[in-house]
This record gives sequence, structure tokens and C-alpha cells, in this order.
Amino acid sequence: MFTSQEVLGVRHWTPDLFSFALTRPAGFKFQSGQFVMLNLPERDGHQPKPRAYSITSPDYAEELEFLSIVAPDGQLTTHLQHIQPGDHVLVGSKPTGSLVHSALTPGRNLFLFGTGTGIAPWLSIARDIHTYGDEDLGIERKFDHVYLCHGVRHACELVYRDYLERDIFAEEGLGPLVQGRLHYYPSVTREAFVRNGRLTDLITSGQLFRDLGLDRTQFDPESDRVMICGSVPVNHAMKDICVAHGLREGATHRPGTFVVERAFVDHSPAPAAN
Ligand SMILES: Cc1cc2nc3c(=O)[nH]c(=O)nc-3n(C[C@H](O)[C@H](O)[C@H](O)COP(=O)(O)OP(=O)(O)OC[C@H]3O[C@@H](n4cnc5c(N)ncnc54)[C@H](O)[C@@H]3O)c2cc1C
Repeated sequence: MFTSQEVLGVRHWTPDLFSFALTRPAGFKFQSGQFVMLNLPERDGHQPKPRAYSITSPDYAEELEFLSIVAPDGQLTTHLQHIQPGDHVLVGSKPTGSLVHSALTPGRNLFLFGTGTGIAPWLSIARDIHTYGDEDLGIERKFDHVYLCHGVRHACELVYRDYLERDIFAEEGLGPLVQGRLHYYPSVTREAFVRNGRLTDLITSGQLFRDLGLDRTQFDPESDRVMICGSVPVNHAMKDICVAHGLREGATHRPGTFVVERAFVDHSPAPAAN
């Protein structure tokens, strides 16, 4: 079942990437990191196909925010890219997904790996008070440090960069909580940037751990928890790395030390990442 929600704002980051905010349906509950189906109302006898979208807002937000690609000849995004404030988008009533806190066993460090629009669920998790814990609010401390790692081809695709590098730390309530605990780690593969390379290569070479000031060159199954969201090849490659480092895949019914968005993973052999 879908409900019609009003578009409150749209931001175009590049010609192929945009984010938008919708009114939150009454009684709509979700866990940070989950996705929901979206669609557009029928127009001129045409009804696009519904598509899955990670919710980028944290679970307590008043609005629902999303980040979208414009897929070439994409059924939905060919039309969705033109939405404007006041338009309506259909929102499914059953958010779901495995990229949630409850799929992980307790740990000290949370690594969030996203490529392209795969940053979407991390914007939700990284803004969720429950990711950190808050003694004043009686919320148990969860992770000491959160490392949000975003891999893209071109620097202009580093959406929310200013927010993650600066603005989030000035936010009332959340700012002091994430200060010194949320670490943003962007990398670009196809043009010069302060950091270059695929996230998978940065992990296997140990560079990522050195860059983050961690005293080791691979994941520590005792203290590290990993969440993965990217293209199918990236998910495969990341999963292989996690298993090689001694991590165990989790799910909501059986928490583990890493999770990958199952809906993105198929069973074909893994080509090179990115
Ligand atoms: C669990 C889940 C969560 C998702 N969350 C998001 C999200 O938060 N934001 C988002 O933009 N998309 C997300 N997607 C993909 C999304 O469902 C659609 O595929 C996308 O919006 C394009 O829809 P479309 O109908 O225009 O094109 P489609 O017909 O669905 O896709 C056309 C082609 O575009 C490519 N493509 C589709 N989506 C992407 C993408 N995100 N990045 C790179 N290439 C892509 C694929 O090669 C695909 O074959 C998610 C998919 C799943 C399964």
C-alpha cells in the first residue's frame, strides 16, 4: 500500500544526483538504515514502476529524505528527477532492510561503506542518536566511533560532503554527540582528490586504517562492525574482505559483525569493484 506525500524540497547535486524531502506519512515507523518503495502518481495514463529507496533521514525526523540517481532511461527516475515542491510522491507503507543496528552485535567502531548512492542509508545511521548513545537521554552508549566511508568516481558526487565535514557538528543536539566520534572518509577514483582509490583497495592495502589513525591494518572482529551498501560487485568484494578479516555476516534474526544490503547482492561471480 502507498500513501501520497508532498514534496517539501529538492536539491540537485549534479545532473545525475538529487535529493528530496517528503512529508512523513502519519504513523510511519522505520529503523534508521531501512529502505522503502517509492513511486509517482499515474499521469497521462502512465504509471512508473515502484523502486526501492533508502531513507536518508534518521528515524526521529519529521520529514522523509531520499537521495536518488538519475538512471539513463530509468523507468522511475526519468520522471522523478523533475519533481518540485508541492508535487506528490507515493511512499510504500512497509520499510524494511538489513542495514540496521539490530543486525550487529555490540562493538566499539562502526564502519559504514557506501559507493555512489550507497551513502544513503549511512546518512540515516550517522544521524541516529542510537548509533552513539546519549546518557542524558538514558540511551545506552553504542559505538565509540563511526567511520563513514564514501567512494565515488568524481569529487562532485561526494554529496553531503560539507554537511558531513562541518555542518553536522554545529547541529543542535546531534553536534556535540558526534563531535570527535563521527569521521568522514571520502575517496575518489577517476580524478585527482585529497584521497584516491577504491575503498576495497584502501582497506586491503591497510591505507584506510592508517589514514583513520587506527593502530592496525585490517578489521578487528572484536571491536569493529561493518555495514556495506554499494553496487553488486562492490558488495561482493567488500563481503569477501570482511570474511577474510574474520567478520561474520549478520541479519536481524541473527546479529553478526558485518551486514550487507542483501537486495543489492546477486549470486554471479564478483568482477572488480567500482
Ligand atoms: C534495497 C535497495 C535500496 C535502494 N536505494 C536507492 C537509493 O537510496 N537511491 C537510489 O538512487 N537508488 C536506490 N536503489 C535503486 C533504485 O531502486 C532504482 O533502481 C533507481 O532509483 C533507478 O530507478 P529507475 O526505474 O529510474 O531505473 P531502473 O530501471 O531501476 O535502473 C536502470 C539502471 O540504472 C542503474 N541504477 C539503478 N539505480 C542505481 C543506483 N542507485 N546507482 C547506480 N546505478 C543505478 C542500473 O544499472 C539499472 O539497471 C535501491 C535499490 C535497492 C534494491
